[in-house]
Amino acid sequence: MKFTQPKLPYAQDALEPVISSRTIEYHYGKHEKAYIDTLNKLIEGTDYENMALEDIILKSDGKLFNQASQAWNHIFYFFQFNPDGYREPSGTLRSQIEKQFGTLDEFKKQVEEAGVAVFGSGYVWVAKDENGELYIQQAKNAENPMTQGLKPILTFDVWEHAYYLDYQNLRASYLHKLWDILDWSIIEMRYEN
Ligand code: MN
Repeated sequence: MKFTQPKLPYAQDALEPVISSRTIEYHYGKHEKAYIDTLNKLIEGTDYENMALEDIILKSDGKLFNQASQAWNHIFYFFQFNPDGYREPSGTLRSQIEKQFGTLDEFKKQVEEAGVAVFGSGYVWVAKDENGELYIQQAKNAENPMTQGLKPILTFDVWEHAYYLDYQNLRASYLHKLWDILDWSIIEMRYEN
């Protein structure tokens, strides 16, 4: 099989109580795994078989795009968390957030509001352009800002499977708590590279 699901860099219960062990069991263990397994089946014997995952996302549409993008989006989502990570941004990312949004709290508030307002399944993304300008974007289903030429640096999954076991219908509570496990050193690395 071409793509393998990366092991999480933390224990299944490490993100509790923000994200429960049971949610990780299903979201990582079943949903993400299924996207990667289906992607591998779809590309078998096609021109996509030897492409990087990002290239498949940029060159495909329909069912293949959905599976490829979901595979990428979930790896990106799970790898930005660390219970022992940096709780605040610093350096150039911090300066850029304050330049555009005034304060870190205002930035967080706008990300949360954008996530709450996604109708149905999708994501709230933070992406940057070639000048380092930040964009908070809502996305439906599997959409990813890289298809618009932006570089994603942060994503909060707002599909119900991401939060329903822990927060039921309270998507706003889930989004608000995610900052407690976000590792800003990873977001900074994505911003700077
Ligand atoms: Mn998900």
